[in-house]
Amino acid sequence: PARPIFAEQLPSGLQTISNIVAVSSCKGGVGKSTVAVNLAYTLADMGARVGIFDADVYGPSLPTMVSPESRILEMNPETRTIIPTEYLGVKLVSFGFAGQGSAIMRGPMVSGVINQLLTTTEWGELDYLVIDMPPGTGDIQLTLCQVVPLNAAVIVTTPQKLSFIDVAKGVRMFSKLKVPSIAVVENMCHFDADGKRYYPFGRGSGSEVVQQFGIPHLFDLPIRPTLSASGDSGTPEVVADPQGEVARIFQELGVCV
Ligand code: ADP
Repeated sequence: PARPIFAEQLPSGLQTISNIVAVSSCKGGVGKSTVAVNLAYTLADMGARVGIFDADVYGPSLPTMVSPESRILEMNPETRTIIPTEYLGVKLVSFGFAGQGSAIMRGPMVSGVINQLLTTTEWGELDYLVIDMPPGTGDIQLTLCQVVPLNAAVIVTTPQKLSFIDVAKGVRMFSKLKVPSIAVVENMCHFDADGKRYYPFGRGSGSEVVQQFGIPHLFDLPIRPTLSASGDSGTPEVVADPQGEVARIFQELGVCV
């Protein structure tokens, strides 16, 4: 863990969690949820007790990417706390399991809903809570980072030069809040076809970011049809193909988290 958590500073629902890791991106559609879910299942495979909190209330992806038996969050009537649903031992909370689909809400309301869902959940003892952040660096993200004592952030981006600016924004937001960005995942960096490797979005901006901000780790995640298919089918790729290339990349990321 990059930062010690002092139990008395934590909102009560989070006191039994050792490490909270944010997976963040500045744009939608770059693979943030894919990384969050595969990272969580990799940590679980390494023997950790893990939860995923899908904070993307406008477009919750967790209900598509995992297939728990119960797709509804239940409330403990005595304590009025939320009982997470579970898939392959990983505890799951998403607005998409709250029975309301994606939200049409203004920012302050969204922050309230996120904070309530997150802090009134009975997470139990967890080694890691992986938070799939809403994309961007606006008020919702800032509020969330202020409520939750994050230990580390993993930033997901695509390799375009333009994304450099976005990544810088994300890193600056976390560093203002004293949260270290420990890794950048450059997603969709290449694909292999006909024995050749193609870089459809160019190369190099990831390593520029890593150097400029002193981020210790950079991971390249290739474009893979199976990654997309596994996301759609509710079984994360690291679970479907535990010996595959993607699983190996996530194991390396898991070690540095
Ligand atoms: P975000 O959370 O940033 O909006 P998602 O993780 O939901 O992005 O990914 C967007 C879409 O792209 C999903 O359909 C996902 O399966 C697909 N996808 C993400 N990363 C890859 C990849 N490396 N190869 C193939 N498809 C990918």
